[in-house]
Amino acid sequence: MQKIISETERYSARNYHPLPVVLAKGEGVWVWDKNGKKYLDMLAAYSAVNQGHRHPKIIQAAKDQMERITITSRAFHNDKMGEFLSLLCDVTGFDKALPMNTGAEAVETSIKAARKWGNKVKGVAENRAEIIVCDNNFHGRTVTIISFSSEEQYKTGFGPFTPGFISVEFGDAQKLEEAISENTVALLIEPVQGEGGVIVPPEGYMKKVREITERHRVLLIFDEIQTGLGRTGELFSYIHEKIRPDMLIVGKALGGGVYPVSAVLSSEEVMGVFKPGDHGSTFGGNPLASAVATASIKVILNEKLSEKSKENGRYFAQRLKEMESPMVKEIRSRGLMIGIEIKKSCGTARKYCELLLEEGILCKETHDQTLRFTPPLIIGKEEIDWAVGKIKDVLSR
Ligand SMILES: *Cc1c(COP(=O)(O)O)cnc(C)c1O
Repeated sequence: MQKIISETERYSARNYHPLPVVLAKGEGVWVWDKNGKKYLDMLAAYSAVNQGHRHPKIIQAAKDQMERITITSRAFHNDKMGEFLSLLCDVTGFDKALPMNTGAEAVETSIKAARKWGNKVKGVAENRAEIIVCDNNFHGRTVTIISFSSEEQYKTGFGPFTPGFISVEFGDAQKLEEAISENTVALLIEPVQGEGGVIVPPEGYMKKVREITERHRVLLIFDEIQTGLGRTGELFSYIHEKIRPDMLIVGKALGGGVYPVSAVLSSEEVMGVFKPGDHGSTFGGNPLASAVATASIKVILNEKLSEKSKENGRYFAQRLKEMESPMVKEIRSRGLMIGIEIKKSCGTARKYCELLLEEGILCKETHDQTLRFTPPLIIGKEEIDWAVGKIKDVLSR
C-alpha cells in the first residue's frame, strides 16, 4: 500500500490530506483496502453514497444505460432526462429542475437564477443583487463560492473575489432580517451545516427565516447537497422544519455513488428566467447521469432509507451519548448525520480518525475538532453496535 500512496502523493496536487489507507473494493456499508482488510464506511463519500456502495439496482441501471447511449449533449433531447427530472420534481413538489454535475455547479446555478430573478422579476437594479449567506457555511469550492466562505484557508491567495454576498450568523433570525436590503435577492443556507461541524440550527429558527424571507420577497435557497435524500431522517431537511424553500439544491447521493449528478429545483417563476443560451453544461442531464439518478432516487424511496435514517440515527446518537467520554465536548445529530466534537484539550479530531482507521472504521474530521459520522443509510443496528464499541474504545484511551 505504501508504494501506491507514494506514487499518488508524487503525482497528485496536494489539495487533500487523506488517511493512510488505499481502498480497492466496496459493497454496501463495507469497503476493503488493497490488503483485503475490511472497514465500515462511516463517511459514505461525504454522503455521496447514501444507498451503499455498488447498490445492485443503481449499478444495473448504469450498466443498462451504458449499453445504449451515454451522452448526447443538450443540443438534442435524450430519452432519460425527462423521466429523471419528472421524478425529482414529483418527490420534491417543485415545478422545474435544472440538471448539473457537481454540487458546486448547482450552487452556482442557484446563484445565477436568484440574481436574474432579482433583476427581471423583483426589479433589483442590474449588477446590484445581494445574496445573504451564513457564517461557517460550506457550498463548494469555485471562486464565487469561496468568495463568501468564512474559512480563511479556503480564501487565502485565491482573490480577487466575487462581490454581492453578505454573511450573517447561522441561527440568528434577527441578524438575517437586519442584513436584508432593497437589493437582497436570496438567502442561501444549509439546513444543517455539514462541513461546519454538523451544526443543527435552534428550534424555530428556520420557521422565522421562512417568514422573514417571504415578507421581504427574498428567495430562500436550501443547499441540501449533503442533508438531502434521506441523510437527516427525512427525504429533505425542510420537512423537519415544516417549511418549503423557494429553491432546492441537490447533489451527492443523487448520483448514487456512481456518477456525479446535481440539480437545482424551483418554481416556474424562478426557473423561467433562464432562456436558451443563458446557462448550461456539456454533461448535465446526460442519459447515463439521468438513468443513474432515477435509480438512485427510487432506491431511497423504495427502501425507505429516510425512515431508516431517522430510526437508526436516533439509535446511534443515543448509544454515543450513553458513552460519557471525558474527551467529548458535544454530540450533535440529525438522522444519520452525526458529529462528535472533541475537547480542544484532548487533541484534534484527526488523531481519533487515525485510531478508528486501525480499528476498522472510516470517518473523517471536519475542521479541527469534529468527528463526522455519515454512514450509508442502509446501515443496520448490528453494525452500529459494533461501531459504537470501537468508538467508545478509542474515546476512552
Ligand atoms: C459537498 C457539498 C457541496 C459541494 O459539492 P461538490 O460536488 O463537492 O461540488 C456544496 N454544498 C454542500 C452543503 C455540500 O455538502
